[in-house]
Amino acid sequence: MRIVRTKAELRDALEPTRREGGRIGLVPTMGYLHEGHLSLLRAARRRCDVVVMSLFVNPAQFGPGEDLDSYPRNEARDAELAERAGVDLIYAPPVDEVYPEGFATGVEVGGGLTKVLDGEPNQRGTGHFRGVTTMVAKLLNSVAPDLVFFGQKDAQQAIVIQRMVRDLDFPVEVDVLPTVREPDGLAMSSRNAYLTPEERRRAAALIRALRAAESVAESGETRPQVALDAARAELERAGIEPEYLEAREADGLAPAESLNGRPVLVAVAARVGRARLIDNLVIGG
Ligand code: AMP
Repeated sequence: MRIVRTKAELRDALEPTRREGGRIGLVPTMGYLHEGHLSLLRAARRRCDVVVMSLFVNPAQFGPGEDLDSYPRNEARDAELAERAGVDLIYAPPVDEVYPEGFATGVEVGGGLTKVLDGEPNQRGTGHFRGVTTMVAKLLNSVAPDLVFFGQKDAQQAIVIQRMVRDLDFPVEVDVLPTVREPDGLAMSSRNAYLTPEERRRAAALIRALRAAESVAESGETRPQVALDAARAELERAGIEPEYLEAREADGLAPAESLNGRPVLVAVAARVGRARLIDNLVIGG
């Protein structure tokens, strides 16, 4: 496995594979790897000839009140885990390689997809997805993968990227893989590292809340609000006030009118201690 820091090195390293027509897979990450990331890397290993993992904490996707400076980082450990998962090449550029002086271009998906589920404007805000899509567009251009892998954990991110890829004709297949969870159901996240043991126990209320909404739907109830009330009650029991807790159509993120029509994305974001956690389940449909 090699670690490269510049676009030029990246291009050189991938040139032989491209010349021979090999399949290139890309897994974008911000590092501090956990089993969620590893599931994407293993899928890429199974389906591609060369697996590239990008490792970059992208300043453009952090809001002003967010945790850019304290975001957990450990490149040596990430490199070891990535190598064991079968990664061939890590692209870990410094910030000025990605955003050189005078950088002034952005990629933004409109049409409402990025104007919902944003939560507190001072925490995350609508600029977040512009930061994500700009970065992912740059990675798709620099790596030019055949396949790119994302996790359902960040459901809205996956939807927004699929829309960008379609709208801008990126010649890449987007694969979205299931959320990997801890034994008590908590979705794995690099930010779980912020949780104290007591907060860690409370954080499991997020998935309990989503499952409560799911059981309401499975009981035959069709009103999204009834499912959301059950979820909110579960959060309240754990003393968690969500930033958002919403039911939206899983494809276009329009507000869900009913639980027995198309698949519904129930999505939650909440602060537990210092960590802003998100999770979601697709129910019904
Ligand atoms: P991040 O490093 O948090 O930006 O995540 C990199 C990729 O891993 C994104 O596509 C995430 O959706 C995915 N990911 C993060 N957590 C999980 C998880 N628990 N299960 C599956 N995929 C995940």
